[in-house]
Amino acid sequence: MTNKPSNKASFYKSLLIAHVRHYGAVSRTQLGQSTHIRMPVVTALIRDLIERGILVESGRSVAGRGRKQILLSLNSRHGFVVGIEFDLDHMMALGVDVRGNVVAKRSMAMPAQKTNAAIVKELIALTESVIRESGYERSALKGIGVADPGIVDSKEGVSLLCTFMPEWRNVPLRRLVESHFAVPVLLDENTRAKTICEHRHGAGQGFQHLLLIDVGSGIGCGIIIDGQLYRGHTNMAGELGHVRVVENGPICSCGSSGCLETVASYPAIIRQVIKALQDGTQSMIAELAGYRLEAISMATVFEAAGHGDKLALGLLDHAIRYLGHAIANAVNLFNPEVVLLDESMAGVENLMVTPIRQIIHRQVTAMAGNTPEVRVAKIGAEAAAWGVAMLMLDQLFDSPVKGAVPWAPLKANAALKTL
Ligand SMILES: [Zn+2]
Repeated sequence: MTNKPSNKASFYKSLLIAHVRHYGAVSRTQLGQSTHIRMPVVTALIRDLIERGILVESGRSVAGRGRKQILLSLNSRHGFVVGIEFDLDHMMALGVDVRGNVVAKRSMAMPAQKTNAAIVKELIALTESVIRESGYERSALKGIGVADPGIVDSKEGVSLLCTFMPEWRNVPLRRLVESHFAVPVLLDENTRAKTICEHRHGAGQGFQHLLLIDVGSGIGCGIIIDGQLYRGHTNMAGELGHVRVVENGPICSCGSSGCLETVASYPAIIRQVIKALQDGTQSMIAELAGYRLEAISMATVFEAAGHGDKLALGLLDHAIRYLGHAIANAVNLFNPEVVLLDESMAGVENLMVTPIRQIIHRQVTAMAGNTPEVRVAKIGAEAAAWGVAMLMLDQLFDSPVKGAVPWAPLKANAALKTL
């Protein structure tokens, strides 16, 4: 498949593939209606796409009157992509077939020495191992998506900086991975990849306007507007962690001060816990961490808070107020249907989700139907790797016909099922 169709037939083929991919199983007649390509042309092009192993016949329609129609789907054996994701302490690679199903998974710890060369070497090794495990020939690898925890220039494929890995600056990651595997490589940010994954496969399915609040080492916000990922003029939209919430507050790794991340990210909460313990505050957290400051994690903070520990509850309340107000401000700006909170909050609904929901509902301009649903994201650890694989598939299949096929389920297809 080429990204720039050289003639009408290849443009039409790209359009047919994009429609099949977005709408699932569809008949030739439906494809003719939705693409406005003449039926004899549709029939001929579909025959060619089946012969080339890109599409398969996948059953018959069961709804409606008249002759049951043969349905077409993407052939999952046509190929696969790899999605890779890395963060402060781990890296993960998923093999994902062209229909978006996960077919292989490998993960490992980040190298102890976080030099740029060591990180790139391990990312490549992990990708090699997931390719071997995928069950596909290496020649079926169509592309690789890479989700970076920092700020990237996705157009140039360069990792610009990462606040918790100071050496990870201006790394030409796309070129490095591309030169090893000789397939197209796409570089994007973790938060955006997670957002795409939740929108396609998770708690955001069926929504056209969505915010995903990614809380962890930093705080990011993924934005879907009209079913499309929003990136902003210079690809910097969604930097919620760097909105200023404290005048003359703590210095932030971005160079500014008083940013949301400095008071409400998980490392910021843990820093506050350690300072309070060092100042002599009594707390169950010390015992839960075996009296080792380096063993304090959000799990110990949540556990102590669950037992009514005053320090844990006080610091969480402090962080939640800042986080809740910042999210409510974003809701007032973007008017989403749903806000998805980070999956790390799944086990702590009462401690985190309920108070954040209350702040949002209190602060959002209360006009009829204006208050968004607040849910917890549900994909978990695979979200970024799976999401960046989906972005790679979008690039492979949709760029020839960009904008011609929106990401929205075809209503008429709700009644269609494959046999
Ligand atoms: Zn900042």
